[in-house]
Amino acid sequence: MIDSHCHLNFHAFDKDYDDVIKDAFDKGLTGIINVGTKLDSSWRAVELSQNYPNLYAIVGVHPHHSDKLEDGWIEKLQKIAKNKKVVAIGEIGLDYFSYKSNDIVLPKLQKEVFIKQIELAYNLSLPLQIHNRQAGEDILKILKKEEGKLLKTPGMFHCFSGTLEFLEKILDLGFYVGFDGNITYKGIAKGETTSLEDLVKKAPLERIVLETDSPYLTPEPYRGSRNTPSHVIIVADFIAKIKGVSREKVVEITTKNTHNIFRL
Ligand SMILES: [Zn+2]
Ligand SMILES: [Zn+2]
Repeated sequence: MIDSHCHLNFHAFDKDYDDVIKDAFDKGLTGIINVGTKLDSSWRAVELSQNYPNLYAIVGVHPHHSDKLEDGWIEKLQKIAKNKKVVAIGEIGLDYFSYKSNDIVLPKLQKEVFIKQIELAYNLSLPLQIHNRQAGEDILKILKKEEGKLLKTPGMFHCFSGTLEFLEKILDLGFYVGFDGNITYKGIAKGETTSLEDLVKKAPLERIVLETDSPYLTPEPYRGSRNTPSHVIIVADFIAKIKGVSREKVVEITTKNTHNIFRL
């Protein structure tokens, strides 16, 4: 069982990341992938990965940070991405949701930064880990335009949301989809039209990966507290229930999927 997307590289874990990692491996996880959202957190993800054999890093600039970049950022990111423990470029993509803490960054800027990082991934022959919030159509347009730069197994959409049609289109491009603890929340998230349960039902298990997005998206019944990678078990159980299969089956297939995408 692998947590394919979390942020133990964030300050929320400064004091106890070691205990959190040990607890996750004690509870049966076989891998943890920490993801950067800008240069410093990307570097921190790489730094953490050096201390444990089954810890990996994904490095990149999140769309929220695409308006705060220094000159030469892509060269700096390239240097970080060359580390052996880096398994993908992410989380990159587009985000058109207006958050209290973060207004929508100019879409033109988001797109430029996204495309530059698709090119970087292509040059390093790494898959993509994509962040999408209510920007599916524009992401699809970019991926179609850049299709020649995608790997045969191009990567995954993390914390998947969107419509059933959108899901079908990205599956056609070869992408996998990640689900988190928010699949345990009741109702449909603000601005969405399709429930996560319906998306889980429709996505073939052979294309699903497990993630937590720790410290965020804590599953029920722990919602409200800090999330940790060990809660990926709850995500596995919830998917098992929706699909009517055993936890073991979900763990077996999703682990294989994660190995396949990131060549672990
Ligand atoms: Zn994200
Ligand atoms: Zn994240």
